[in-house]
Amino acid sequence: MEFEFDLIVVGAGSGGLAAAKRAARYGAKVAIIEANQIGGTCVIRGCVPKKLMVYAAKSKKNMDSSEGYGLKNEGINFESNILLKNVREEVSRLSNLHRNSLKKLNITIFEGLGRFITQNELEIICSNTKKIKNKISSKKILISVGCKAIVISKSFFVIPAFNEIDTI
Ligand SMILES: Cc1cc2nc3c(=O)[nH]c(=O)nc-3n(C[C@H](O)[C@H](O)[C@H](O)COP(=O)(O)OP(=O)(O)OC[C@H]3O[C@@H](n4cnc5c(N)ncnc54)[C@H](O)[C@@H]3O)c2cc1C
Repeated sequence: MEFEFDLIVVGAGSGGLAAAKRAARYGAKVAIIEANQIGGTCVIRGCVPKKLMVYAAKSKKNMDSSEGYGLKNEGINFESNILLKNVREEVSRLSNLHRNSLKKLNITIFEGLGRFITQNELEIICSNTKKIKNKISSKKILISVGCKAIVISKSFFVIPAFNEIDTI
């Protein structure tokens, strides 16, 4: 059977991006499918925005203690809308950087939700209209869709040794 791609990667997060780029650099014909924004949890919702917000909080803490170092700071205002605007701009700058590097490596980007039809074929569903946009096939398919947090039952955390310590 003839396939359109050597590799299809489902999910353009840290894992999917690294795998797609590496395969393309080895000469593979690669496609990547992303249901949301290119960059995944780390760039869009996790590491990057979290760190920027932590830096903002730390800056405020340093300013609060700056008078002890002889620095007068009067009338500091925190405007959350400025911080959030800048965080969103940085996130979208990084997402675009990834998009451009995928393009430079001739990786075909499909925007939408990837769904298996057969073990070598996927359909791409438009995230807004829920309609099927494309059908693509590949010799190899890498599932790199991240994960979701789940609530584990309380009994999972019962560690007998800790209970013994409590009763000593
Ligand atoms: C708040 C927060 C802070 C974090 N901070 C750090 C940190 O400081 N340092 C660190 O090392 N790690 C951090 N992490 C963890 C890090 O973000 C993840 O380990 C990493 O993003 C996992 O990458 P991934 O490619 O496996 O999944 P993801 O980045 O989640 O990528 C999966 C992608 O697949 C897409 N997708 C899912 N299903 C489909 C489908 N059917 N079709 C098409 N696309 C699909 C999703 O939209 C998503 O973009 C943090 C996570 C969070 C939530």
